Amino acid sequence: MTRFAFEPTPVPIVAIADSPLLFPVHRIYCVGRNYAEHAREMGADPARDPPFFFQKPPDAVVASGAAVPYPMRTANFHHEIELVVAIGRGGREIPVAKALEHVFGYAVGNDYTRRDLQLEARKSGRPWDTGKAFDRSAAISAIHRVGAVGHPSRGRIWLAVNGDMRQQADLGDLIWSVPELLSELSMLFELVSGDLVYTGTPAGVGAVKRGDRIEGGVDGLDTIANKIA
Ligand code: MN
Repeated sequence: MTRFAFEPTPVPIVAIADSPLLFPVHRIYCVGRNYAEHAREMGADPARDPPFFFQKPPDAVVASGAAVPYPMRTANFHHEIELVVAIGRGGREIPVAKALEHVFGYAVGNDYTRRDLQLEARKSGRPWDTGKAFDRSAAISAIHRVGAVGHPSRGRIWLAVNGDMRQQADLGDLIWSVPELLSELSMLFELVSGDLVYTGTPAGVGAVKRGDRIEGGVDGLDTIANKIA
C-alpha cells in the first residue's frame, strides 16, 4: 500500500460540457506562432517551419468564470485566445491521418503570458517558463466532446477586453492544422489521456490590467470569460 508523506495535491480538472464527469489534466502543451499575422506581430517570419511547443504546468488551469490574478513580476500581462484540443486516447508517432482519433473534445482557452519576461527570455536564449508557465496562466472553458461538436476546422475565433474586440480570425487560418500538430507533438512526446494542446493565438495580443473583463470564444464551440483580479 502506497503511503504518502503528506496528502498529494489533487489532480487538476476541467469541466466537460453536458456531463457530470470531469476531465483530469495530465499535461498542457502549447504551440508557438501558429497564425501568420501573429507570427509577424511577434517579429517572426511566418514561413511554414515545423511547429514548436512549450508546456505549462497542469495545475495552471483556470475555469471560465474564475478570476485570473494579475501575476507577479510583470508590467506587460497579455491575453492569447486559442482553440484547445483535449486528448482522450494516448499514443506516440501518430500519423496525421489517424490523429483525430485521439481527440476527446475541444475547448476555448486563453494562454496568459508575461510578455515582458517571455521577450527577455527569447532575447537571451533562455527558457520561456517564467513568461508562459506560471500559476493560473491557462484559462479554459468546458470541454465539448467530439460526439457533440465534431472537429472544428473553420469558424471565427475572437477575444474582447471590456467589450472591445481585440483578436479576430478564423480557425481556417491556422498554419498547422490540429491533425498535423498532434502528429508532430506525438513524435516528440508520448501523448497521454488528459493532455491539453493549446493550438496558438491569432494576431491582436495585448496587455490587460486589474479589473479587465476578458471574453473570448470560438463560434459554434463555446465562450470563455475571466476577470483580471
Ligand atoms: Mn499561445
